[in-house]
Amino acid sequence: MNTQPTASHFIDGKYVEDTAGEVIEVIYPYTGKVIATLHAATPAIVDQALEAAKRAQKEWAGWTATERGRVLRRAAEIMRARNHDLSVLETYDTGKPYQETSVADATSGADALEYFGGLAASITGEYIPLGNDFVYTRREPLGVCVGIGAWNYPTQIACWKGAPALACGNAMVFKPSETTPLSALKVAEILFEAGAPAGVYNVIQGFGAVGAALITDPRVDKVSLTGSVPTGRKVYAAAAQGIRNVTMELGGKSPLVIFDDADLENAVSGAILGNFYSSGQVCSNGTRVFVQKGMKDAFLTRLTERLAGVKMGDPQDPGVNFGPMVSENQRDIVEGFIAKGVAEGATLVCGGKRPDMPGFFLEPTVFASVTDDMTIAREEIFGPVMSVFDFETEAEALARANDTIYGLAAGVFTADLTRAHRMAAGFAAGTCYINTYNDAPVEAPFGGSKLSGVGRENSKAAIEYYSQIKSVYVRMGDLEAPF
Ligand code: NDP
Repeated sequence: MNTQPTASHFIDGKYVEDTAGEVIEVIYPYTGKVIATLHAATPAIVDQALEAAKRAQKEWAGWTATERGRVLRRAAEIMRARNHDLSVLETYDTGKPYQETSVADATSGADALEYFGGLAASITGEYIPLGNDFVYTRREPLGVCVGIGAWNYPTQIACWKGAPALACGNAMVFKPSETTPLSALKVAEILFEAGAPAGVYNVIQGFGAVGAALITDPRVDKVSLTGSVPTGRKVYAAAAQGIRNVTMELGGKSPLVIFDDADLENAVSGAILGNFYSSGQVCSNGTRVFVQKGMKDAFLTRLTERLAGVKMGDPQDPGVNFGPMVSENQRDIVEGFIAKGVAEGATLVCGGKRPDMPGFFLEPTVFASVTDDMTIAREEIFGPVMSVFDFETEAEALARANDTIYGLAAGVFTADLTRAHRMAAGFAAGTCYINTYNDAPVEAPFGGSKLSGVGRENSKAAIEYYSQIKSVYVRMGDLEAPF
């Protein structure tokens, strides 16, 4: 596959280059080799993208919502038809195994395009009677939205932000992470091919500085970030200068609570899916696994046995189910956390090393005897590292699960359904799972509480964050005034 795109940016319906921008080398995490060379957006490119979006948004908002929805649904069909190629590209970009990308990336993006394409025509206002008079509301687009993405789910993030934004009649300028810049360009190409007017969905590349330039531009009405809490703080503060709308999808340190009465195999599956999918580079991962004392030994034994089923290798091989980390830098960061875990006295049950093979691999790692105050128990690691704790009572588990600055997700495995719902009600988290983990269907709201974020993506809830309500007061009779 030719992984070098036609040019670095996609603006106003075409590929655009400006070689004066800082060089971005795209590295395949399995070989460490450069697979594409791009350039960060210069101020001229940022300006071009925002001008195109500003102009195109007016035309796009003038289309009927049914027409806009049709474009999104057509884009979904194109994405599904090209799923294989898009998945191969996503695997080159991120290092995630094709076994995952072929079912979780372009397909998830297509779901978002299809869902919001279907919803577009139902985005309406309401009629509010006031005696003989009345008020009606109009749900209007915000204008130009900026999307800034993380590197773990590049296609999905580009679509989760783009689909609701476009359904509501906004235009978007999207900046992917410079680590994984390739697939968002394909999303832009596909939307244009599906009939979105030139300029409605633009992609520009760059490091944090390009994101920062976008956020503070007066032409921008909304900023949606998927990234870490430190970046979220900066972006939120910068957006506040212009009182811009924001969606912040940030990090997490989510709990997964397993009671003695849970089905052991299902609980182990949940812990595997919640820690090792995408080599652990998932924001909602349940990295703090609380196992009730009576189950703990059996859980660790079965988990270790099942981790023997991990198959590392060339991520493009459909038989490989565990890929390298996205970059050497990310692997170094995660290894730093593993060293801290050992130094602070946690028991390394398995993993913790680089396997003897090419690529930025790190073995799936499980720590037991972790205490709540250890670094690995408190900080987001964003790699294949699970911490296992034990507990005795439900109240204790809930209190310890919630004892974190984050609030993205939480899960519980138990056969007692009343307890499961009690736990879900008690968790301080935006997304909760009962006897499952890490599902993210487009139909359900997704987002965090506490430091994990502001706003929701997916579902009807996302419409709130990509539109604004205008009230129109209508008097039917004469108007009295005091003088
Ligand atoms: P970062 O926070 O490092 O970067 C996110 C994006 O923001 C990148 O495109 C980055 O550009 C850009 N950026 C960095 N600094 C600025 C700035 N000052 N102004 C504007 N934009 C800026 O996150 P990662 O890419 O490392 O992704 C991992 C993080 O993302 C984890 O914390 C994870 O939990 C979180 N995440 C959250 C999800 C959610 O839905 N809640 C989903 C996926 C990930 P550049 O890369 O060029 O620096």
